[in-house]
Amino acid sequence: MSQRLQGKKAFITAAGQGIGRAIAEAFVREGAQVIATDLNPALLEAVAREVGCSTQVLDATNAQAIQQAAATAGPVNVLVNAAGYVHAGTVLDCTEADWDFAFNLNVRSQFRTIQAFLPGMLAEHGGSGGSIINLASVAGSLKGAPNRFVYGSTKAAVIGLTKAVAADFITRGVRCNAICPGTVESPSLRDRIAAQAAASGQTVAAVEAAFVARQPMGRLGRVSEIAALAVYLASDESAFTTGTAQVIDGGWSN
Ligand code: NAD
Repeated sequence: MSQRLQGKKAFITAAGQGIGRAIAEAFVREGAQVIATDLNPALLEAVAREVGCSTQVLDATNAQAIQQAAATAGPVNVLVNAAGYVHAGTVLDCTEADWDFAFNLNVRSQFRTIQAFLPGMLAEHGGSGGSIINLASVAGSLKGAPNRFVYGSTKAAVIGLTKAVAADFITRGVRCNAICPGTVESPSLRDRIAAQAAASGQTVAAVEAAFVARQPMGRLGRVSEIAALAVYLASDESAFTTGTAQVIDGGWSN
């Protein structure tokens, strides 16, 4: 154990599975005190049992619950916003409800958690600075991905939000960076592959092959690879890095 996050307290949304859970595991391994939150209590029970960090049910779209969680947690050093949902479809498929749901979960939740947790990172509130890490995607402003109209729109907004926060707090000890993954193996990716196969009449294997082919490296990303980048951004090793959109995509956007 190298304890790269020793002495740091981290709050993570959507840590029940996939990238969020992998980040919780990696942070615990590196010595951080982790509060792992998610909408789904059953997933959190497994996290508590298998990762051994504290867990808390939190709907990342519930403003009041976020304020309450921030008050209960007290000052944290690291905030990871992992909550997000992928809608399939073009602009012609997107309903008003889809648009509202996607922006509420993928973008507004990050605005709300940052507004709730950032004050506690500032010196005047007893904080000692902090690192905010927002899950964006390479799909959005870095790469136009077919059938990802509202998702790409939200993830482009996440990069703008990240840069704005970074610029405003750069002299006050708070850094803010976005992680932009390509296609990463996760439970929800499996759901998307199955749904796309059912909708298109293709086999699951054919749809999976198309997802893999997006990455010139010829494979999917691993959640542990995304978590390793999050450890770096959370640690003091990245002290000179803020306002960035960190691409980790197997060459998809190159
Ligand atoms: P996932 O989709 O497999 O899991 C999502 C988690 O979010 C689940 O545990 C779910 O219970 C939780 N969740 C859903 N609604 C919530 C809410 N309202 N409040 C709190 N939690 C909620 O996870 P993933 O695929 O690893 O994605 C994590 C993040 O990474 C997302 O923001 C996603 O957009 C982004 N991302 C993923 C990929 C990928 O290929 N997997 C690529 C780029 C970006």
